[in-house]
Amino acid sequence: KTQQYFRPTKAMINLKAIQQNVKNLKEFLQPNVQIIAVVKANAYGHGDVAVARAALEAGATILAVATPDEALHIRAHFEEPDILVLGASPVSFAPYAAQQRIILTVFAEDWIQQAAPLLANESLPLRLHIKVDSGMGRIGIRSEQELLALYQTIQSIDNVEIDGIFTHFATADEEETTYFNQQVQLFERCLSEMPFKPRLVHAANTAASFIKDSHLQYDAVRYGISMYGLAPSSYVESNLPFPLHPAFALESELVHVKQIKSGDSVGYGATYVAPTDMWIGTIPIGYADGVIRKLGGQEVLIDGQRMPIIGRICMDQCMVALPKAYAIGEKVTLIGQQGQSVISVDEWATKLDTINYEVPCIITARVPRIYF
Ligand code: PLP
Repeated sequence: KTQQYFRPTKAMINLKAIQQNVKNLKEFLQPNVQIIAVVKANAYGHGDVAVARAALEAGATILAVATPDEALHIRAHFEEPDILVLGASPVSFAPYAAQQRIILTVFAEDWIQQAAPLLANESLPLRLHIKVDSGMGRIGIRSEQELLALYQTIQSIDNVEIDGIFTHFATADEEETTYFNQQVQLFERCLSEMPFKPRLVHAANTAASFIKDSHLQYDAVRYGISMYGLAPSSYVESNLPFPLHPAFALESELVHVKQIKSGDSVGYGATYVAPTDMWIGTIPIGYADGVIRKLGGQEVLIDGQRMPIIGRICMDQCMVALPKAYAIGEKVTLIGQQGQSVISVDEWATKLDTINYEVPCIITARVPRIYF
């Protein structure tokens, strides 16, 4: 059943682009390296189920999320693939994870000891990936000593299995590699302390998986931002191993078009005052959709041309300056392409003083994701 939407505002998600981005990475990686598709945060705002399906079809073999609830949502739609929760899970989730074959991240002896009694009656073992905090300062054990203590605690508990070990880089997208190399070295020291090699050793995010040194690929890479066709940083963007295909577009239509007189004002606070007689159009998208007020002045594409948002952005609507009268229903592209003109996610990120990651994530659930 496809849901019907009556408001013309929608995020258009290009699943073929996502598949191409996965296939290109697969070709770039060493032959036996697995791709973990990072679909946390509703697949960076693109829609977790559709993106997961596309990524699996294109060659990803594992799905990663941030939270237990995201993992359950994915598991309800996919019976087979491994699902890894990258963040901290409450102890109470441990038996559910075992039953649903969801892999959890572990980094504290307390956690394992508290989970042990909850797992006693489970028929399937709980699979764990040990997290090494090699310099991100977020979650994870921070030394070889802590690793060995955690390892021994895990080994003393029935019904749990060390399936993997991983770390996360803080600066893999930067040209300067000193800090990155320190993180690699700490992770390597931890690996050499492990009494056995777990099934899945992984460290690379997008930026690290694009580095020529294939050693950093280990058994798997965690592919997030560039699966969506966006570069992790401008430095990585100028050194890409293959072209990226952006998957996210934001579109609407003109719902009202009118001529206003010189001196007329537009929007809350009457902050925009028409400098001449002019045409303006109203678009049904606003800050409750994630088009936050800071985007005032941002251009949109209509008829292949750039036109600015004028006045304050409202909760559900905003206004644009038009060079002439356009018909009701004229297509408006807020992010995406019309003819030769492009407004990229990165352009919005610059306007918002943030990173491209944040842009599709802030487009709220009210905006339907339409897949093609
Ligand atoms: N691995 C972990 C632990 C993460 O938190 C993230 C995302 O922040 C990723 C991998 C994916 O990173 P990227 O989107 O830069 O590829």
